[in-house]
Formats: sequence, structure tokens, C-alpha cells
Amino acid sequence: MKKKIHKYDFLIIGAGLIGSLAALALHKKKFKVLAVDKVSKNRQDKRTLAVNANSKDFLTQLGIWSKIKSKPQSINKIIIKDYLNPNPLIFEDKIEPMGNVVFNREVLFEAKKLCSKNKILISEFNLDYNNIPKNKIITIREKKYQFKKIILSIGKNLNFNTNIDSYNNQHFSHVGFFYHSKNHKNIAYEIFTKNGPLAVLPSPDKNNLMSTFIYSSKKDIKNYEINSLIKKNFNLSHGKINLVKDIFKYPIIVKINKLKSNFILLGDSFRSIHPVAGQGWNLGIKDIQTLCSLADQFSIEDNIINDIYFARRFLESVTYLSFTSSLNFLYENTNLISKNIIRIGYQGLSNFKIAKNIFVKQAMGRINLFD
Ligand SMILES: Cc1cc2nc3c(=O)[nH]c(=O)nc-3n(C[C@H](O)[C@H](O)[C@H](O)COP(=O)(O)OP(=O)(O)OC[C@H]3O[C@@H](n4cnc5c(N)ncnc54)[C@H](O)[C@@H]3O)c2cc1C
Repeated sequence: MKKKIHKYDFLIIGAGLIGSLAALALHKKKFKVLAVDKVSKNRQDKRTLAVNANSKDFLTQLGIWSKIKSKPQSINKIIIKDYLNPNPLIFEDKIEPMGNVVFNREVLFEAKKLCSKNKILISEFNLDYNNIPKNKIITIREKKYQFKKIILSIGKNLNFNTNIDSYNNQHFSHVGFFYHSKNHKNIAYEIFTKNGPLAVLPSPDKNNLMSTFIYSSKKDIKNYEINSLIKKNFNLSHGKINLVKDIFKYPIIVKINKLKSNFILLGDSFRSIHPVAGQGWNLGIKDIQTLCSLADQFSIEDNIINDIYFARRFLESVTYLSFTSSLNFLYENTNLISKNIIRIGYQGLSNFKIAKNIFVKQAMGRINLFD
């Protein structure tokens, strides 16, 4: 007897922090979606995410925000300091918090739970995306499916002839936590050191006495160096500091993949940027929002969606990638030209209120200069 073919709108390969949310967003729009992931539980990820205002709304609409277990910590102000300019740059929004800090694993847990509840997720299935037939008929766990559109969301290791092989690929991010005796007052910090950027963010914790840090560098940094760097910069604002022993190291891959007409790329599979601006995942949420709006406007069988989607997401991706990579390059190359470019940019942002406000609204996802 001929096997039944189950007809679906979307196959999402990779149900990580972006793929699982894309599955939920498309399912909510009444598309028939199936997501597959090669693992069932993602490794205990110790990282936190700075969720911007737009992404928070997105998680709220999916019913995930209210379920996140550890109370998210709002970011009400961001203070930027460096070794060249005497005064800090301060970013804040008069209307709402600029973002919130949550644990990656808690967002993923809730997203996957909701996917399983809606029966749109198959775990522990490693799909070979290089050998997908033209008719998009795929056998998964002995069932035959046919899909109209295939989405790749397998993270930063996807490599489709990327032509941007960035300088920042040499960086590693060191991620950890520290307790402190003074309230962090919901302020986030970015300190540009000669060895790389150090971000300190309020960590989910009900007493406001814990912070997380991300220190990215191409140098082989030892834990004691991080300890003294944090103490030197934060003793005054955070009081007595106690670093949590475990520090985790993540390689940084910086790239943008080329358009592949048979796939839609989401999240880090589309572009992977340096975490200095805390925007990688937020850009992935915008990918999902763009895809959902195109799926409303066009027939999803139409390949034009793939082209329009790529065109609409490319400019913003290139801009963020270039901006974050150039920042690191300039701060690490201490010649006169680099120093002058930094000083001019820094002064420009401090002196022009309008430019600063636009910068803040863009980082919050409240405006999109690239659409
Ligand atoms: C140190 C650090 C800090 C960061 N902080 C922030 C921040 O504050 N804010 C922010 O916006 N972004 C941040 N980012 C970026 C953010 O973490 C990523 O953009 C985001 O996690 C990417 O999600 P993704 O779903 O694209 O990839 P992933 O989360 O990596 O998911 C990929 C999934 O695909 C699955 N998979 C892979 N291959 C297959 C296959 N063949 N078949 C089936 N499944 C497969 C994997 O199992 C995995 O579950 C940070 C990044 C780093 C490194």
C-alpha cells in the first residue's frame, strides 16, 4: 500500500531559541508547521539574553513572557565607558525599559514546551538539509511529509559560502555571574577595554544583587584577570563583589550567509554577529516577524517570498555585523586614526540628542531604520 503523504506548509529545521519561536508564531497564524531538532534538551545554557522591547512584546503575544520562571530584570539605563573618552555615554528611554534580561534556557524551555503541547515539534531528529529532494517530500520517523517551504534555523554553524569572514571570529566570550552588596539599580554597562568589550547586566534575581558579565576578547583570558577587571570597574557602583567560580567560554562566529533560493534562513543561520551589542537573538525575532508578515501577503509556495525576505533582512544584518565588528576593531587597534574615529563617534552621540534617541529606539526594536 502506498504511504500517506502528510501535507504541511512549513518545515523548520532546528528548534533552538529562534526556530522553536518561529514554529509557534507560524502555528498561531494557522499555518501547518513542523519543527525538528537534533537534540531533545539543549545543553544547559548558562547565558542570559538581553531581550529588547520589541522581542518582549513578541514573547508576550506567544504567551511565553508570563511563564518565564526567574523574574526578568529590566534594563532602564545603559552606561558606556571606554579608555579614550573621559565621560560616559548614557542611553535611556523616557517611556519604557530598554530591555529585560532573562535566562536563555528558560525561554527555550517554555518555547519547546508549547511546541510539544501543540504537537509541532519532533526532537532527536538530525535532518540532512543538504539532501532535500526538489518535491520537498521528506520521511521523518517513518512518516512521509511534503512541505511547501523549508526554513533553516540550525544556528551559527551553517555555512553557505559566506563571503564575510570577520576579524571577530578570533574572539571568545567569557560568560559568568557575580554577587554584589549594592543594588545594581537596573543599569547595564559596556566597558571597552584594550583587550575587548566587557558587558555587565543585571541578572534575573529577586534581590537585585546579582549581575552577569560577557567579556569578549581574542586574548587567552584567565579567570583571575576577569575577577580583577570586574572588581576594578564595579567596586564603586556594585559594592563588595563575589565572582561565581564557573566561567563559560563561547567561540564567536561572525558571518552572513548567502541567499539560497530553496531555503529561508532564520536567526544565527542567516547572520551571526558579535555579542557586544546584545542583538543577535533580537535580530532573529525580527526575522520571524518579517517572515510572518510576508506569509500573510504572498502564497507561501511562491519562491518570491524567499527573495523578498532575504532582501528585507540583509541590510539590517550587514549593518549590525559591520557596526559590532568595527567597534571591536577600532578599540583593539590603538593607532591614531582608530582613536580619532572613536572620539568623533562618541562625541557625536553625546552631543546630538536626536541621534542618540534614534540609536536607542533602534536598539529597542521600536523603529526599524532598515525596512
Ligand atoms: C556570549 C553570547 C551572548 C549573547 N547575548 C545575547 C543577548 O544578550 N541578546 C541577543 O539578542 N543575542 C545574544 N546572543 C546571540 C544569541 O544567543 C543567538 O543569536 C541565538 O541564540 C541564536 O538562536 P538560533 O535559534 O539561531 O540558534 P541556536 O539557539 O544555536 O539553535 C540551533 C538549533 O538547531 C539544532 N540543529 C542544528 N543542526 C540541526 C539539524 N541538522 N537538524 C535538526 N536540528 C539541528 C540545534 O540542536 C539547536 O537546537 C549572544 C550570543 C553569545 C555567544
